[in-house]
Formats: sequence, structure tokens, C-alpha cells
Amino acid sequence: MSQHCTRCSAYRSSGLYRSETFALCERCAQEYRRALALYDQTVRQFTEDQLLTPAEDEELTSYRRYLGLSDSDVDHLDPVIWRARWMYRISTGSLPVVESPVLLGRNEHCHFATGANIMTEIRGRIYVSGSRGASFRIMRGVTLRTGGSRGYSAPVSELQFVGEGHFLITTKRTLFVGTQQLDVPHRKLLSVTPYTDGLELHYTGQRRRILFQLHDSDFAFAMLWVSAQREL
Ligand SMILES: [Zn+2]
Repeated sequence: MSQHCTRCSAYRSSGLYRSETFALCERCAQEYRRALALYDQTVRQFTEDQLLTPAEDEELTSYRRYLGLSDSDVDHLDPVIWRARWMYRISTGSLPVVESPVLLGRNEHCHFATGANIMTEIRGRIYVSGSRGASFRIMRGVTLRTGGSRGYSAPVSELQFVGEGHFLITTKRTLFVGTQQLDVPHRKLLSVTPYTDGLELHYTGQRRRILFQLHDSDFAFAMLWVSAQREL
């Protein structure tokens, strides 16, 4: 594997493998592309269930080395790996702490922050059916279903755009800060419905349906679920 000729091996050991790919001879360039494709495929396989266990993580690293690829050769896959690594950690009850774009309370930490739209329902139906996704156990006795298509939250005509801003999950609450503000403490949260493109929150004292349209709702859902359970 990765039998590079002497000339190309020199490029590799100089640490310029990636940036100097054009300088590889045709045979080595072909091998390089093949190694990339194999690694890429393996990462997709390992993260298909959304979770990357520490054992799989290690296996990936040794496979990458075996293929003769460096960290920077495969850094385009970092977001995929980072996410799956955290999905696994979340499933074991640990949550990332990230910098908050807004000021939080004392002893309050931010687990997740993303740009989001806040929407409210203007007519009846909001769910378009989707297929079942894979399930994984997130805490004892609770199965969190994620992946696959659960359908889209709603046809746009049936949702009213309310505003845009930051969507945050903290140790204490779900917070939306933007053109309007919404604050849902975990203790008031009754349930969360995940959709392909967002989350719907159900909570005590709610007056209308609230949906957040955001990127990677599976990740946000897993995090909110664990964070809310901790606070209870
Ligand atoms: Zn070569």
C-alpha cells in the first residue's frame, strides 16, 4: 500500500504531499486518489450510524496511516468525524461546551449555538411523513431516534416566519436571541419533535406552536435531549 516512487516519497516526507499533489508522478497521484477514496468510504461507513466510538476513532487513525495519508490530506472530513465523535459522547451523556454568542447567566454554559429561523404555524398540518431513521440509546431507558428522513417540518406556506437569530442550548435552557427573544428553561420543556430541518418545542405555558428551522437538527436534538434530562 502507498508504494510511492523515490521522487514522490521525497515530496511526502517534506510534508508538502497535499499542496504538491500536482507534482506527483501519474502513478503516485493515482495511488493517492485511490487512498483518499478508500479512506473517505471508510469514514462514511463508520459514521453511517451517526456515532463514532473511541474504538472506531482509533481504527480510522491507523487506517489513515496505513494508507499513507496525513491529517491535512483528509481534513475535509474533519466536520463529519467531529460530529460523529460528539454524537457518541452525547449518547454517553457528555456534552460539548462552546463559546456563546450572547451573554449567559452565571454558572450557565453553552452546549450548542447556531443560526436559526423561528417559525410559527399558521394553519393545521405541519408534518409531512418521512421514513424511520436509525435509533440509538441516549440514556438508560430512552431511545433517541435519529438519522433517516422524518419528513420536513412543514410546507413553507403553512409556516410563518417570525424572525432569525441565534439558537442556543445551554445547561439551563433553550434560548433564541434575534429579532425576538424566546427563553425555554429545561424544567418547562415537555417534549421536542425533531424534523429533518428543525425542531419543534413543546413547553409549559406555551401559547402557539414554535419551530426552529436550523442546520443539523439531529445534533441539536440529541444535545437538547441530554441537556434537559440532566437539568431534571
Ligand atoms: Zn511517483
